[in-house]
Amino acid sequence: MTEKVRVRFAPSPTGHLHIGGARTALFNYLFARHNNGAFILRIEDTDRSRSTDEYIEAIIEGMKWLGLDCDEGPFRQTDRFDVYRSYVDRLVKEGKAYYCYCSSEELEERRRLALATGKMPKYDGRCRNLKEPVPGEIPAVRFKIPLEGQTIVDDLIRGTVVFENNQLDDLIILRSDGTPTYNFTVVVDDVDMKITHVIRGDDHLNNTPKQIHIYKALGYNIPKFAHLPMILGSDKTRLSKRHGATSVMAYYEMGYLPDALVNYLVRLGWSYGDQEVFSREELIKCFSFDNVGKAAAIFNPEKLLWLNSQYIIHSPSERLAELVMPFLVKEKIIGEGQDIDRKWLSKAIDTLKERSKTLVQLANTLRYYIAEEVEYNEKAKDKFLNEKSRELLIELKNSIASVPDFSHQALEIIFKSIVEKHGVKLKDLAQPVRVAITGGTESPGIFEVLEIVGKEKTLRRLEKAIKTIVCPHFP
Ligand code: GLU
Repeated sequence: MTEKVRVRFAPSPTGHLHIGGARTALFNYLFARHNNGAFILRIEDTDRSRSTDEYIEAIIEGMKWLGLDCDEGPFRQTDRFDVYRSYVDRLVKEGKAYYCYCSSEELEERRRLALATGKMPKYDGRCRNLKEPVPGEIPAVRFKIPLEGQTIVDDLIRGTVVFENNQLDDLIILRSDGTPTYNFTVVVDDVDMKITHVIRGDDHLNNTPKQIHIYKALGYNIPKFAHLPMILGSDKTRLSKRHGATSVMAYYEMGYLPDALVNYLVRLGWSYGDQEVFSREELIKCFSFDNVGKAAAIFNPEKLLWLNSQYIIHSPSERLAELVMPFLVKEKIIGEGQDIDRKWLSKAIDTLKERSKTLVQLANTLRYYIAEEVEYNEKAKDKFLNEKSRELLIELKNSIASVPDFSHQALEIIFKSIVEKHGVKLKDLAQPVRVAITGGTESPGIFEVLEIVGKEKTLRRLEKAIKTIVCPHFP
């Protein structure tokens, strides 16, 4: 029987969930789901000066929004200090770790000297064989790395990576202030949590040989490793704010759909033929490390925006109606707590999905359907609301008022008879009407728009446009 897959996402809560972290979380999640395994969330908050509860909340919020539900956790490393210390004691007792009394000033001085003489800065092993404690000094604890030989990391993505042990430092596993360090806690936790696959960014690849030595010293099996390629900006430097928003929740704020972001993130390093758009089920079914490349992935905000527009086009309007509600409030199109008939809203969205790349755009184009009044775009007003169109608008208003039917078909007949009578083109009527009803010159088909705006509002807006023409200088 094969062992059940157990993976973890282990963020340090020193910032919001960002694109790179979310991609790591996603690959862990997909690997777990693909293998019917467990996905665990572990908060690596041992750096107390930089970790905050607020960031923990923010990370959990980001994962929730992306739909990356975990099966166990969140666990916090600061709840487990006693556990780490007991493992440290064990290694010291077994002679696999030792007390180090070198002060940070001394270490810094030696490091400076090494660099000045062109040597690789490395702990010189001074306290490795100390027999007696140094009185009055509180030591740190260092782990003994073998002085010779090689350590081989068999990575599921990177293949075989060889490290020379003499290049590795005897690393501190417990600081003199009693706090354990990352490379140690990560091993203890991965052992205790029975992690089978460690999936993380390849900025941790250099830590892996050290961790392998700690596994061996503790007598535990070494998990499999998969180091994901870095994510770079378009200029090939490490992704940062300069390349656009990097926090996951910033994408929520900008009106991205979580599934679109997930779909985009998965393609940062993973591919499946030339397919670009995947449902969640497809991702779970298709995901494996065989299709994760070694090369760094380039973050491309335009492609993400394109993908978002695809998700908007293909999402049921009923779902978009729910998702757009908070944006209608934020953009001040409706008041807080104000409700809108979802069936009507879905119909309005039907006409706009093809033109909206984000939910923020969608909310703003919905404005003319929802608002009581429209504001005219000045240029559009000057061009289309003038003496020439006034008569046409008056006639349209009267016809609409006198016919009970306000359907798409009825409107089409009314429009046709007016343009025929005046010997003008449909657009000579449609454009002024469009400005009167939407405030601008771009909108979905005019009959659809009118039908959704409704008869009463249409008449009111036509009336206002006609008045605007009569008294252009007295609004
Ligand atoms: N806490 C580490 C980080 O945020 C994760 C290390 C790991 O996954 O082993 O980079």
